[in-house]
Amino acid sequence: MSLEVLGAQAVRKLRPGKLVIASHNIGKVREIRALLGPYGVEPVSAAELDLPEPEETGTTFVANAELKARAAADLSGLPALADDSGLCVEALGGDPGILSARWGGPEKDFDEAMRLVERAIAATGPDASRDAHFVCALALAWPDGHVEWFEGRVDGTLVNPPRGQRGFGYDPMFVLNGMTETFGEIDPDHKHAVSHRALAFEQLVAAAF
Ligand code: IMP
Repeated sequence: MSLEVLGAQAVRKLRPGKLVIASHNIGKVREIRALLGPYGVEPVSAAELDLPEPEETGTTFVANAELKARAAADLSGLPALADDSGLCVEALGGDPGILSARWGGPEKDFDEAMRLVERAIAATGPDASRDAHFVCALALAWPDGHVEWFEGRVDGTLVNPPRGQRGFGYDPMFVLNGMTETFGEIDPDHKHAVSHRALAFEQLVAAAF
């Protein structure tokens, strides 16, 4: 492993070779494979290695990303990358936040999750802020215990009713500041260039390659 000092922060580079994508979500693995494709790493998913999914017991996005990455690195003996993401609504004190996936229920019904968000905002009063942000935390863990973290955040406003079928999760209710269309309406390539995940990956790529 090579260690490089950038300012006060030690940054470990990723060598060409296998990298475990510590996720059982096929969509996420596909997106991460595409993002890392050009950098000479061989992404292999936690599901392909039959690694168990750890319980997300952290209280922050970074903590949950870290526990998933550490578990995969420990069990596989390979470097591992995990992400944890979600929508934080200002009027709700940051909810659904790290529980964003769970607000969709066992059926992962995000139309219902968006209705829950609307109801919760309405319950705070007629002048409630509609400001919100998406967060994506990435953790890169090595089998010797070294971990690095990267976080991307994008700020916007929530619209009601939700619009657009092109994204996933809470995309149809989120309009990025400076835009008029929701993340559910814009071209996915456009979203991937400006999203919280894109910002987190930009930092990872700058640090790790
Ligand atoms: P995780 O798999 O625990 O990180 O859950 C992330 C959840 O946050 C997803 O199920 C989505 O509901 C929500 N989420 C994260 N990123 C996005 C996004 O880019 N668009 C819409 N919803 C998102």
